[in-house]
Amino acid sequence: MFRRHPLKSSAELRAMVPAGEATAAALAAVRERLVVGATPLELDAVADAVIRGRGGRSNFRLVPGYGHTLCVSVGGDVVHGIPDDRAFRPGDLVSVDGGAEVGGWNGDAAFSVVLPDPDRPDLVRTRQALVDAADRALWAGIARLASARHLNELGEAIEASVAASGPYSIIEGYGGHGIGRTMHEEPTVYNHAVRGRGPRVQPGLVVAIEPMVVAGSPDTFVRDDGWTVATSDGADGAHAEHSVAVHRGGIWVLTAPDGGAAGLAPFGVTPVPIG
Ligand code: MG
Repeated sequence: MFRRHPLKSSAELRAMVPAGEATAAALAAVRERLVVGATPLELDAVADAVIRGRGGRSNFRLVPGYGHTLCVSVGGDVVHGIPDDRAFRPGDLVSVDGGAEVGGWNGDAAFSVVLPDPDRPDLVRTRQALVDAADRALWAGIARLASARHLNELGEAIEASVAASGPYSIIEGYGGHGIGRTMHEEPTVYNHAVRGRGPRVQPGLVVAIEPMVVAGSPDTFVRDDGWTVATSDGADGAHAEHSVAVHRGGIWVLTAPDGGAAGLAPFGVTPVPIG
């Protein structure tokens, strides 16, 4: 499914930094504009402008058949939602996924938020707990990368984190991936424990880690648009993602403005800039 790529050299890891920074900047701008009344298409334009402003291009637009810079998924749509002009409503749980290609290298990241709804505090609290669970699972997976010998340890960490957060499920059939010259490369990064240890974790490995956590059953289906992955029972879904490099000095979260310092602190892991 994915094209095979070798481990990245130190120079190649350094070359991936601008793509990660452009991805982070685009999603930060989107987060600021993600308010009740805004539309997914407006966010798409914001992300595209930021990426172009940094001399890059949207790598989502390079995916055959996909014509947007972001995926925007609301409520029970978990991932791969196509931006449209339906305005966000109070209390919506919105997941945004996007990436930039700069200088021939790729970044890929996602976040989820719950929009305020003063009339439904319980709904907002319930949805925020799901978003927090996806975030925690992401950082648990990233933190494990700092000490893992083999990649499949991440799935164990993500699964354990989600189980500890609440009565949630991890959707089946979707996971993270290697990233580099192309957005989707080997190896697959599982969000749950699997048979086999997976590839060795070593300097030069760059992966996009992306737990997709739902409030109900893990079963999903693809909507008639051919892209949107939605929960079969309509329960809410949340998605969080970062692209992370393993290098000689440690790990560095390419798509986090601080390299992952804040997210990794609770795990006692300090990210190290790529030397
Ligand atoms: Mg991805």
